[in-house]
Amino acid sequence: GVGASHVFVILGASGDLAKKKIYPTLWWLYKDGLLPAKTTFIGYARSKLTMEDIKKKTLPYMKHLEIKHSLLILKVKEGDEQKVEAFFKANEYVAGSYDQTKDFSNLNKQIEQKGDSNRLFYLALPPSVFETVTLNLKAVCMAKGDKWTRVIIEKPFGKDLESSTKLSSHLESLFKEEQIYRIDHYLGKEMVQNLMVLRFANKIFSPIWNRENIASVVISFKEPFGTQGRGGYFDEFGIIRDVMQNHLLQILTLVAMEKPASTNAEDIRNEKVKVLKCIQPIEMENVVLGQYVGNPEGEGEEKEGYLDDPTVPKVKLIVLLSTIDIVILISQCRYVHVCSFSNISVFLALNERKAEVRIQFKDVAGDIFPDGAVKRNELVIRVQPNEAVYLKMMTKSPGMSFNSEETELDLSYGSRYKGMKLPDAYERLILDVFYGSQIHFVRSDELYEAWRIFTPLLHKIESEKPKPIPYVYGRTGMDKNKE
Ligand code: NAP
Repeated sequence: GVGASHVFVILGASGDLAKKKIYPTLWWLYKDGLLPAKTTFIGYARSKLTMEDIKKKTLPYMKHLEIKHSLLILKVKEGDEQKVEAFFKANEYVAGSYDQTKDFSNLNKQIEQKGDSNRLFYLALPPSVFETVTLNLKAVCMAKGDKWTRVIIEKPFGKDLESSTKLSSHLESLFKEEQIYRIDHYLGKEMVQNLMVLRFANKIFSPIWNRENIASVVISFKEPFGTQGRGGYFDEFGIIRDVMQNHLLQILTLVAMEKPASTNAEDIRNEKVKVLKCIQPIEMENVVLGQYVGNPEGEGEEKEGYLDDPTVPKVKLIVLLSTIDIVILISQCRYVHVCSFSNISVFLALNERKAEVRIQFKDVAGDIFPDGAVKRNELVIRVQPNEAVYLKMMTKSPGMSFNSEETELDLSYGSRYKGMKLPDAYERLILDVFYGSQIHFVRSDELYEAWRIFTPLLHKIESEKPKPIPYVYGRTGMDKNKE
């Protein structure tokens, strides 16, 4: 129960993710009084640090930008200073290795000092130590009696089907599925969560959400910056693994799945897996690989292409996995019942920060208006930035004329929900772990299917090294490929 005490352990507390995301998220949840009353936090890593060190590192990320005397300053909100102190008082730090069981026994002693508690372990660690850490947790750190233990893990969940399956089997040998919380932070985003409500709580959408009425679905993701020193990461891991195999595919399942039996996590995840099972591995011929080159007329970073990034290894001259611009057509989806679309594309580009889903409907049958004036309806769900749902539709041009024009039914959150602050994805997800809701976490079989769909393509790209199409930084690059 929520009345019980909880201990939240951050493994890898000295790291980047802990500093930038986990501590600040715990703070925001704490500040807003959303966590169970008796919650304490323990950071764990090899570095010999004090809580004071951790505080110094993470405090800048816990602050808000405020305008004072026309200066932008970072500070903890007025009135929150005491709460910050209380938050850090509820925090402890334990130093220890990742492979010595005795160090984890020591961690366990520290947890036990908090009494009989539910335990949450967040693995903010490189995958290289996942196995030893989880083995040690299982050996000496599990909660006792009626108290539960939950383990939160972050991508990468392997690099391909084989390595991911290995990791899943390892976790399965130690924990039950309901103890494992795999974060895909896109599932914590407002509009991604809204997909289910839009689809299944509106009479008007359900009957048209199928291949008879939908012409195409486009899921797109764009970033307005290049590798920015992350060349090494992209060269090894690549954008397909970084956003497509996980975030964009997750969105796809929510767009394409049938109505689940209930809003129970297993019912929802069962439907998502069904969609994935019906998607064949992506074929090279349905993929367009691009690579951005510098824009000589651009400013600053725009002048630099992918290969100009000094952090991109120079040994291999054409680095394919790291291409930023990719179009993948998942046209062989044989999900025939309700939600099979004839044309689903997922694409990435490098010109603006945007993630959205566009559902284009078919032409009006038996159009009576002259000269092809009637345009197709399109439902757009903008995930970021500026959350919005809008429906492009035809209306009569206001006034004397009987002409028609395209307009929008517009639900822009910025104007409809003025001043409302949407919680950050991590805030929702971490809170979900406390309350045991797995709706927005990735189940093992979902992960398996996602890798099954992408692995042959990834292996092919790695072995055949096809030449990417160069495109200029800031342009969409994919225009010529538009169908
Ligand atoms: P990190 O800073 O590189 O590592 C976290 C901590 O792990 C380090 O402070 C270090 O602590 C320990 N560590 C680092 N390298 C190690 C090694 N080779 N062997 C043993 N321990 C090592 O990692 P991170 O950026 O926080 O990311 C943690 C996890 O989250 C990774 O799986 C990452 O892929 C994932 N992730 C990160 C982000 C992000 O924004 N950073 C976003 C999404 C996912 P000690 O030396 O003190 O023990």
